[in-house]
Amino acid sequence: MSFDWDQIVGQLKTSSPSLYIWLEKSTASCDEKENKCIIEVPSGLHKKNLNEKYSEAILNILKKSINDSVSFSVEVSKSQASQKNVEPKITIKEQQIPLPLDSPAGHIPYLNTKFKFDNFIVGDSNRFAHAASKAVAEAPGQTYNPLFIYGGVGLGKTHLLHAIGNLVYEKNPQAKILITTAEKFIFDVVQHIGSGKMADFKEKYRSVDLLLVDDIEFLQKGIQAREEFFHTFNDLSNLNKQIVATSDSPPQELNLEDRLKSRFAAGIIADIQPPNFETRVAILKLKARDMNKIVPDNVLAFLAEHVDTNIRSLSATFSTLVALSMQTGSEIDLDLAKQALKVTNPSFDSNKKIGIDLIQQIVADYYNIKVQDLSSRKRPENIAMARQTAMYITRNLTDYSLVQIGQYFGGKDHTTVMHAIKKVEHMIKADDKFRLAMDELVARIKK
Ligand code: ADP
Ligand code: MG
Repeated sequence: MSFDWDQIVGQLKTSSPSLYIWLEKSTASCDEKENKCIIEVPSGLHKKNLNEKYSEAILNILKKSINDSVSFSVEVSKSQASQKNVEPKITIKEQQIPLPLDSPAGHIPYLNTKFKFDNFIVGDSNRFAHAASKAVAEAPGQTYNPLFIYGGVGLGKTHLLHAIGNLVYEKNPQAKILITTAEKFIFDVVQHIGSGKMADFKEKYRSVDLLLVDDIEFLQKGIQAREEFFHTFNDLSNLNKQIVATSDSPPQELNLEDRLKSRFAAGIIADIQPPNFETRVAILKLKARDMNKIVPDNVLAFLAEHVDTNIRSLSATFSTLVALSMQTGSEIDLDLAKQALKVTNPSFDSNKKIGIDLIQQIVADYYNIKVQDLSSRKRPENIAMARQTAMYITRNLTDYSLVQIGQYFGGKDHTTVMHAIKKVEHMIKADDKFRLAMDELVARIKK
């Protein structure tokens, strides 16, 4: 019985992330005579969870890849059983989403229909790249050609590239679209040369209306492929066919021939920068909506504040949070978000600085209200006062921006935060008793 367990598990990453977490470190072997498979997992906890929660799902998977009467058991792997407490590594790496082999877009292999303009959040960091991509998709070969998109890892280059392909396809299903990566391109060149079928290669690449090439920096590694790419490029642009490429750095910084670089420079070059706080919150909101989860504003703010490197890590942390909440059956709150962050970012230290949650807790206790009330829209005098006080203290004891503070207090506008701070400042000046009360509160928080 031969089947590719790793591949099966790999696909679960997108179709069933929570099961994926528990199978990520597993191996499987099947006995043909007994028609039985043994799945080896790293710990007793894995075994327990899989048996209790996922046995039906696993059986279905095995039935699909082997046969209808197959059975299975879960065993703790001998080599790993000696390591005590092997906790599951709950990281959902969104890195290489397995591309569907028979693409649901129709006849375009490797075009990932998940990546659309509709689900791409636009902010200052990617506004230009987004606009250029959209313009290209709406009139391929007629506006910006070639379009070169560059930026750091996990910032949305691949997403935009596929979004272009999807939109062109939607508008014109007859359009010949070829989406690939520079790595695959190199491989293709080598294969065609090997089999002496370069004519096929030329036909394949030069008959398209739209050529989308991801991660062009890989071309630095293949001299022969570079040559081929250059010719493909020339022929396509002479025919006014659209080319879009992505890369981790701008053309001039790539180690490629000048003639190729100047070809890119002749088109339009758009960069993508890391997203700012507001964009990160917006992306998280979109993820939450996609996954049908209700996530409190303070949790969104917390994640957006702490994961600021790239969108892939942000998504991974969010998926981890959702998975944790499903596994433990607890609701999504700040505590769980901290746990999720520790999983995806082990160096995260929640005690490093005074957090808004501590301020909120102490202020709420002081005013004898619930912490949630601080983020609500409730307006009774004591709640409004507590909220304004907490905003003021946060502004003074932390380096959160007005926008961030607003987000932590129920998604309020930054002008509301500013108003609260002004009001409290005024009261401190005008009312000695209030000032003393404030001093005491701040002392408690700092302790
Ligand atoms: P890159 O190719 O630049 O390394 P990707 O395009 O693979 O990054 O993006 C990483 C993840 O982040 C993907 O899941 C993608 O959908 C998501 N993503 C990136 N930018 C955005 C955005 N602006 N809005 C929504 N999701 C985004
Ligand atoms: Mg990419």
